[in-house]
Amino acid sequence: MKPWQLIAPDLVLSEPIYAITPELMESCGLRGLILDVDNTLIGDDESEVSEEIRLWAKMMSPNYSIWLASNNFSDRRIQKVAESLNLPYRSRAAKPSRRVVRQVLEAMQLPPTQVAMVGDRLFTDTIVGNRLGLFTILVQPPCEEVALKPSISSIFKARSSFLRNWEIWIARKSGVKI
Ligand SMILES: [Mg+2]
Repeated sequence: MKPWQLIAPDLVLSEPIYAITPELMESCGLRGLILDVDNTLIGDDESEVSEEIRLWAKMMSPNYSIWLASNNFSDRRIQKVAESLNLPYRSRAAKPSRRVVRQVLEAMQLPPTQVAMVGDRLFTDTIVGNRLGLFTILVQPPCEEVALKPSISSIFKARSSFLRNWEIWIARKSGVKI
């Protein structure tokens, strides 16, 4: 595998995670999902999962194996998200390191090709998924509204979307079609 292929997702969605439907799972041959949390299921300045995401998880979880794998060091935050969606989770995953995501995959007992790593970031989520031979899906963050007044949360949001856009720019420069 060439280095730039590690940052090439198998699928790029121009919508948030709820664009992953049973039809899409079927057409990609997927039976399981490993989901990033911050800016994939929930904005990194939000504390509650939105109703859309909650309904999506409720629709998908009876039919598929779904785990959360977050790099966030706050176990409390990730546990709260996981409990609100009734899904198993791992925090402090240190993606793109493989160790924790590999343990999640082992717990799912599915072949890597039938599991998608889903996230908003190329340099953590996409790389770890590709390193483990998973199907990789890049999604849009769930909330992209621009804050009208400068605040700590808008600075965080600007910083994370800056990093995300920078990674996409690097990938494009490397020949990845995004
Ligand atoms: Mg993220």
